[in-house]
This record gives sequence, structure tokens and C-alpha cells, in this order.
Amino acid sequence: MRHRPSDPFTARLRRVPRAQVVLGALALVFSVVLLWASWLVLTDRYMTALGNRASVRSTLYANAIESVLKTYTVASALLAQDRLLLSALTGAPSEQTLLTLGGVQSTTGALSISLYTATGTPVADTQSIDRQINHGVAPYFQLALDQDVSVFATVAVSDTEQRFFFARRIQQSGTILGVVVIELDLAGLQDEWVSSADQVFVTNAEDLILLSSRAEWRYRSLSPFLDPLSVQGAGRFGLLPMLSLDPSNAGPQVAIDDEVFLRIDREVDFRGWTVTYLAPISEVRERVTGVLALEIMGMSLLVALGLYVISRRVARRSLQLQRESEELRALNVRLGSEIEERLRIEQSLQEAEESLEQSSRLAALGQMSAAVSHELNQPLAAMKTYLAGAQLLMKRNRPEEAMTSFQRIDDLITRMATITGQLKTFARKGTSELGEVDVRTCVSAALAIMAPQIGQSRIEIIRSMPDTPVMVRADSMRLEQVLINLLRNAADAMRSVPEPVITIEVFSGPNLARIQVRDAGPGFQGTAAKLFEPFFTTKAPGEGVGLGLAISAGIVRDLGGNLTARNAVDGGAVFEVSLPLIRAAGGTEP
Ligand code: ADP
Repeated sequence: MRHRPSDPFTARLRRVPRAQVVLGALALVFSVVLLWASWLVLTDRYMTALGNRASVRSTLYANAIESVLKTYTVASALLAQDRLLLSALTGAPSEQTLLTLGGVQSTTGALSISLYTATGTPVADTQSIDRQINHGVAPYFQLALDQDVSVFATVAVSDTEQRFFFARRIQQSGTILGVVVIELDLAGLQDEWVSSADQVFVTNAEDLILLSSRAEWRYRSLSPFLDPLSVQGAGRFGLLPMLSLDPSNAGPQVAIDDEVFLRIDREVDFRGWTVTYLAPISEVRERVTGVLALEIMGMSLLVALGLYVISRRVARRSLQLQRESEELRALNVRLGSEIEERLRIEQSLQEAEESLEQSSRLAALGQMSAAVSHELNQPLAAMKTYLAGAQLLMKRNRPEEAMTSFQRIDDLITRMATITGQLKTFARKGTSELGEVDVRTCVSAALAIMAPQIGQSRIEIIRSMPDTPVMVRADSMRLEQVLINLLRNAADAMRSVPEPVITIEVFSGPNLARIQVRDAGPGFQGTAAKLFEPFFTTKAPGEGVGLGLAISAGIVRDLGGNLTARNAVDGGAVFEVSLPLIRAAGGTEP
């Protein structure tokens, strides 16, 4: 499976919105809860207000209709006792009678006043010709004759129009003289309701709508007629279905033609009439919706503001990221060119090292030739002298003495063989194949090779090595070469020291084998790094070329180890060869 490397920029970009998403979700939940609570509280409050208003309005309507009806009731009673009407009924009808009726009509606001004799003959009538009704034959006429009260009557003149009357008998000294009929102007009241835009209607005891602010509701019934004959013209009146709904705190609710109303009923103190006031719930909904819309608008404004702030922050952050990525890119480019530069330098260094190694080898060869010729010249000269002496002795026939000279020559040859043998060992390049080598053996071999010089300089050797083998992977010849080099340098450094001592110690650590060569000389000058530079030497020309330590360090490095130099606190130089141990040999750590 392949993983996309996590890009710090996208990671940071991703990290930011997570907090904002949580915040946004919280804000959303809070907004929904707030809206819901507002809806509940506002609906309740506006419904209560609507209920209160409906209650007040319905009372007002009921009072108004009651006072109108009372006015007409009183007016009909007063008319029944009017002298002029009495005289008109007892005497001959005159112009004055009609004038009187007209005066009363305008005073009371009635639509018409009609005067009939007890037999039903019209005496005087203010009804317009086209709207005239003959009350004398109507059922309420007889009712009026029968009782001394104002009889209320409704006459349906069409499907959409009813006329309302009060009939009252006129009597004098127990004799019934006639009947006066007053037509009530309830339509005027109804017109006021229409213009007020309130939904209100009046029903009689039979639940028939007599008056209504809505024309289409007029003369319809709220309940089916049980006995259609009991109501005049009942067959013509349709039903107005009013569906009762669950009541609210404010009161009962009904639905008419999919419109929901709060219903308030007020009884009118007249023949079981009821004023019903309908307050449309949609009004509450509209008001609640209005307030909620304002709330949503406010929230939207807040959200917009929040988004604006967030977008500004994101823009700032992305700008910053862009800047950072540009800086990183520039840094990358710089690093790339630096790496290239380094590779170039490394390559040229390697080339330099290779050529140096080549020249080191040549220099070592030169040094070797000088050493060989220096070491062999002396015995050769001595041999020449002994040989000349032996020749002379033989000529003088003294062979015994000549034999001594030959013996000397033999000794010298032996010595020269030893010298060449040692030099050969030193000069040997060593096999390139590495093997397991006991460091202790190499130290002993190096000391053996150096024995003549050490003996000559009367140097004391202090040697300390573990009892068990200290095994490293190396070429023993080359390792010996390094040790010989260090021992020779130590011996050279102690030329003017009265009691020269070389301490050579082998340590077998947990992972490393370490060989320390320490002298009692003055120590080296300058930095340790300087000593390992090729051709650095403080020795007189002919004595050293400054390649020994450089080559030695190279050999140790080839074997995977390290060669270091330091000056001891109590004087003298300390050189240390450390090589990886093949296996721990129970050695000691200083
Ligand atoms: P050379 O012996 O031909 O000078 P080396 O590379 O072996 O070349 O040594 C370089 C120099 O390091 C010497 O000339 C000497 O100044 C210094 N040096 C090496 N070993 C010692 C030592 N044991 N004490 C003091 N100086 C030393």
C-alpha cells in the first residue's frame, strides 16, 4: 500500500477547518433551537393576543347588535301608543299619517314603517313601491295580533337577502285597532362589518346565519336542519361546514374552506341569537413568520460576518503558507546546488587523495632507497677495509690473522642480510587480503624489527597486553608497518631525552581493540590534524619526509579503524590505533 507523504501545508490547512466545522455545527444547532423556541413562544403570545382581541371585538359586536335590536323594540312599543297612529286607525287615513310614519322612520333609522288595520288592510306604508311586502297576510301579523309584544320576523326575499321586521299591535281600551310593522336596518350594521374586514356573523337560535361580514356565508346554516319546515324557507339555506379543530390556549379553533380561525362566540340577549367572531390564525402565522424571518436575517448577517472573518483569516493563512512554501522551495534549490558543490568537492578530493597516495608511495620508495643505501654503505666500506687487510695478511703468509678478518667480513654480511631482511619487511606492501590477526603478535613483531634501533638508543620498552588474543580483521604486515612507524617516531622524538621510555599498551574494549604508543619526549607542536598531513615534518632533510603518519593513518582507515594523536598531560606524545574487534577477548579498559 502506498502512503501519500503527509504534506505539512495541507495538514495545517486541514487542521484549521476541523475546529470551524465543529463551531459551525454548534452554531447551526443553536440557531435551530433558537428558532424553534422563538416559534413556540411567539405563537403562544400572538395567539393569546389574538384571543384577547377577538374577545373584545366579539363583545363589541354583540353589544352593538343588542343595542340596535333594543332600539327597534322600544321604537315599536312607543309607536304602538302613538296618538296619531291611533287616530289614523280610528278615523280616516290622511296625508298626515304617512308624514308621521316618515318622521318616525328617519328618527329611528328604520328602513320602513307600515300601518295595518287589525284585519290586515294597509293604512299607510313607507316601503318603496318595488320592495313592498304585504305584511297583512304574513304569519307574524297574526302573531302580533295575538300578543302584546313586539314580534320579530325575518323574510327571505331572495337567496342573498333577508329583511327583518318588528310587528306590534295597536290597541285602545282593550280593542285591537291594528298592527304597526317596522323594518330594521341590520344591513347597515353588516356593511360596517364588511368594511372593518373582521370575520363575524350572527346566528339565530336555529344556527342560521342571519348576518355575516362575508356575503357567501349569509343564510347558511351551521347545523343540519332537523325539521326543515320549522324554519321559513329552510330548503333554500345550505350548510356552512365548520370543522372543529384542536383548541389552543386562546380558545377553540375551526376550519372553514381550509382557512383556520380562532372562534369566539358571544350570546346576544335576543331570541337566542349568537355573535360569532372568527379571528384568522394565518394572521398569527404571518406575524410569527415575520419575526422569525427577522431572526433568520439577523443570524444570516452574523453567519456572513463570521464567514467573512474566516475567509479573511484563511486568505491570510494561505498567503503565509504560500510565502513559506516559496521560501522552502528557494531553500531546496540552494540545498540542491550545495549538494552538487559538495559532490564536486568530494570527487576532486578523492582524485587528490588518489594522486597523493601515488606520490606517497613514490616518496616512501625514495625514502626506502635512501635508507637502504645509508644502512648498507657502512658495512660495505668496512668489508672493503677488512678484505684489503686480509689480502695483505695472506701475502705476508699470516693466514690465521687473515681468517679473523674473514670472520669479520662474514659477520658484516650476516648483519647486512639482517638489515635488508628488516627493510624488506618494512617495505612490503602486504597482501591485500585481510585475515584474522592477533594484535599482540603484530606488536611483538614490530618491536622485534625495531629492536636494533631501540637497543642502540638504549630505550626502555614498557609493554602491557591482555593474556588472551585480541583479534582484529587486518593485514598483519601493514599493521606492523604502522606500529614500526609510531615506534620510530617515538624513538626519534626522544633523541635528547636522558631516560628514553616507550610504553606500548594493548586494550581490548567491548567493541574496539586499541594500541597505545606513548613516549617520554617533548610531545608534538601544533594540532594533531597537522601531523597527519602529508609532507608535514619537523625533521632535518634526509631524516624524514613527513609521509609516515599520513600513510599510517591511511592504512588504519583502510582497515576500518582510526589513528589519533594527543599530547599527554604529564608530557610526551600518545598515538592510538583503534580497530574494530572481531570478538571480545576479555581485555581491559583503561
Ligand atoms: P617524518 O617522521 O618523516 O617527519 P611523520 O609523518 O612520521 O613523518 O611525522 C610527522 C611529524 O610529526 C614529525 O616530523 C614530528 O614533528 C611529528 N611527530 C611524529 N611523532 C611524534 C612524536 N612521537 N613526538 C613528537 N612529534 C612527533
